[in-house]
Amino acid sequence: MRCGACPHEWDATADWLDRFDQGKEGCPACGTDCRGEDRPDFTAAPDDQAHDEAATRDLAWYHSSTHPIWPDRDFDPAADLTEETRQRMESMSARPGAVERWAARQKSKAVHVGTYEAAIENMFRRIDDEGGPADQFFLHRVRLRQDCMIEPGVHPEPTDFVGNAYLTEVCAPGVNVLRYVNVHEDASRISLALDVDAIDAVQSIPIPLPIDTSDPWITDATARLHCASARPPEPMTSTLQRFRPRTIPALATEGRQLVKEAGAELPVNLRDRFGLEIDEETFASDPSGFPARVLGLVRLVTDPGRVLAALDAQGWRTV
Ligand SMILES: [Zn+2]
Repeated sequence: MRCGACPHEWDATADWLDRFDQGKEGCPACGTDCRGEDRPDFTAAPDDQAHDEAATRDLAWYHSSTHPIWPDRDFDPAADLTEETRQRMESMSARPGAVERWAARQKSKAVHVGTYEAAIENMFRRIDDEGGPADQFFLHRVRLRQDCMIEPGVHPEPTDFVGNAYLTEVCAPGVNVLRYVNVHEDASRISLALDVDAIDAVQSIPIPLPIDTSDPWITDATARLHCASARPPEPMTSTLQRFRPRTIPALATEGRQLVKEAGAELPVNLRDRFGLEIDEETFASDPSGFPARVLGLVRLVTDPGRVLAALDAQGWRTV
């Protein structure tokens, strides 16, 4: 961490960060806490190899996505626009070609890569935020071109208010790699905002890895879900209950309990983002599917060696 009010820098533990976010801790030197405008924030870890330009080119970089092919030069951002949207975009613009200009701008957005941990943490966050049906995710490992142009120094994340970054607006001409401190995922580690031209090749695998459904934890969890699905709904323990009495299916409660138990092995920052829900329909169609997904996600964190070996076995796709 680096204080915004004084020059102090220090190593913070996950527990310290948790208290800091609640306003119970401040800068060890001057006491500035999370409420100040000059609040302490993550800074690049001094031991990060990516401080060195040559090492940055040689490191493996990771990205998680719901796209099996990423990045995709042939991707057309305008493909999903309805005719109505296209007409509205054209009518709002002073000159013709609004859709093409918008699509070109979309395609000039930087792509982001980071550590393995950052890619996995990003996927956990997306699963937690979306809370919808189980999307298939893919893990991509990126090899940079040896002639890529790296902006000197390590910078704050270059994204605008909707999370987009355009390198041409923040870097010298010709630069296609910008190093920044990731403050959201694998915080304090260096991530990269890239132009696709900086990428040499990519390896990709679906994640989580396939899992043996005869694993004892899955068998036991599936049996518990079967029992729960036969129980009557349970009352919600919510403060809103006084106004709107509600119940929750016992299956959902048991699912949350399983997630909590399996998630106990995760580091605290991931545990808070480990939100999976089970519904009757998914359970009926594939009873062991939910426990298998839960265990598969946990193993991405507890057994990264298997994941990296699976990536090693893939061919490189040039971009
Ligand atoms: Zn301070």
